[in-house]
Amino acid sequence: NEILKYLKEEYDISDVSFDTWLLPLEVYALEQPGNIVKIIVPDANFLGYIKKKYSTMLMVSIAEVTGIKCDSVQFLVEEDIVPEPAATNQLIQNNTNTVSLATLQNANLNPKYTFDTFVVGANNNLAHAASLAVAESPGEIYNPLFIYGGVGLGKTHLMHSIANFILKNNPKAKILYVTSEKFTNELIDAIRNKNNISTTEFREKYRNNDVLLIDDIQFIIGKESTQEEFFHTFNALHEAKKQIIISSDKPPKEIETLEERLRSRFEWGLTVDIQSPDYETRMAILRKKEEMEGYNIDNEVIKYIATNIKSNIRELEGALTKIVALSKLEKNREIDIELAEKALKDIIAPGDKQEVTPEFIIQIVADHFNLTPLDIMSAKRSKEIVYPRQIVMYLCRTMTETGLQNIGKALGGRDHTTILHGIKTISADLEKNPSLQNTIDILKKKISPQ
Ligand code: ADP
Ligand code: MG
Repeated sequence: NEILKYLKEEYDISDVSFDTWLLPLEVYALEQPGNIVKIIVPDANFLGYIKKKYSTMLMVSIAEVTGIKCDSVQFLVEEDIVPEPAATNQLIQNNTNTVSLATLQNANLNPKYTFDTFVVGANNNLAHAASLAVAESPGEIYNPLFIYGGVGLGKTHLMHSIANFILKNNPKAKILYVTSEKFTNELIDAIRNKNNISTTEFREKYRNNDVLLIDDIQFIIGKESTQEEFFHTFNALHEAKKQIIISSDKPPKEIETLEERLRSRFEWGLTVDIQSPDYETRMAILRKKEEMEGYNIDNEVIKYIATNIKSNIRELEGALTKIVALSKLEKNREIDIELAEKALKDIIAPGDKQEVTPEFIIQIVADHFNLTPLDIMSAKRSKEIVYPRQIVMYLCRTMTETGLQNIGKALGGRDHTTILHGIKTISADLEKNPSLQNTIDILKKKISPQ
C-alpha cells in the first residue's frame, strides 16, 4: 500500500485510474538474485496494458519506498496462482484541472457523465477498463475502441466519461462527440449546401480532432454515402493516430449491412460489450443515484426496485424518479413499499413484447430530443418542443392504428385538427428535407427495432 500511495502521488494518478489498475495489484514475490518483483494482475485482459503503462513507475516507486533496487517487474495472472483477496482502499482526492463550459459544449459533452458517476459491475467491467485505458492513452493502444450493448446500459455514459477524462487532463485536446444521426444529417446538409456548411468544412470539422466519438453507429448502416464518408474520416484519423471511439447495439460482425471494409476496420482495435446489470450492480447503481440526487430512500424500497426492474439502467433511474415524484405529489408522503408499488405499477411486469402505443412513441421521441414526455404533452409552444410533438403525431399516425381524436387525447387533450395539421407539416417537410427523413427512420427503428 505504501508503494502504491507513493506512486499515486508522485505521478499524479487520478482516482479512477488508480482504483482500476493499481489498487488491485498485489506483490506476489521478490525473486533473487536479480531483484525481480512479481506482481499479480487480476484481469488477464489488461496485463499488457498495465505492463506498458506502469512498469517503470512501479520500479521507481518500489525502489524509493523500500530501498531495494528493483531491476524488473514481472506480471502474473491470477489464474496462475491463488492470491489473497485484494484489499479495498479509500481514495485520495486530487486532480484539480477544471474544464470550461465552452469547451464541453464545443465537444457536445455532458459533464455529468464521468467515470466517477459510473458504477462498475460484472456486466461492464471490461468495457469500463478498456474505456479508461483509452482515456489515459488516447490514440496509443486500442484504436478504434468499439463498445456495444443494448439500450440504456451505459454506452453513451462511458463515451462521455472518456472524453471528459481526456479534457480534464488536457484541456486543449480537440474532442468531438456526435451521434451517427448527427453525422449523417450534417453530411446530408453539407452535400446540399444547407446551413452554411460545405463538404470541405464538414471534412475539416470531423478530421481535425484528437478524439472522435461516434455514438450509435448502427444508424448509419445501410446509408451508402454516409458509410463512404465515414470510411474516409476513419482512415484520416486512424492514420494520424487519432483516437476513434464507436458505439453500437451489436458487435461489428453482427451488423448485417455494414460494408466489409468498415467492419474490418472496426475490428482493428478492441471490441468490448456491456451486458445487463446483475442484482448487486443494480443495487449499487440505485444507491449511487440516491446519493447523487440527495434522496433518502428506505433500503427495502431500493431492493424492491432492483428486484423488479432488470432490463436496463435508464428504467432503473426512471423508477427512482417516479417514486420520488409520486411522494412529492402526495405531500411528501413517506417513501415505503406501498408507495413504490403504486408508482411503479405500470412499469413492473408488463407483457414481454413492447406494444407500439402513442404513449410509447411519446416516450421514445421525448428521449431522443432530450425532452420529457410531459414537455411533449404540455401546452408549451417553443420550437424545440413543437416540432418533436408534431413528429409524435406523424409517427402515431403511421405506426399505429390510433385515430386523430385519440392521438389528440394521448397528447394532453389536443384537438383533431391540430393533430392533422402536425401530420401534414411533417409529411410536407419530409419531401424536401432528407435529414428529417433520416431522423424519422432512426426514430422508427428505436420504436420498433425489427
Ligand atoms: P446507452 O447509451 O447504452 O443506451 P446510457 O449511457 O444513455 O445508455 O445510460 C442510460 C442511463 O443509465 C444514463 O442516465 C446513465 O447515466 C445511466 N447508467 C448506465 N450505466 C451506468 C452505470 N454503470 N453507473 C451509473 N449510471 C449508469
Ligand atoms: Mg446511448
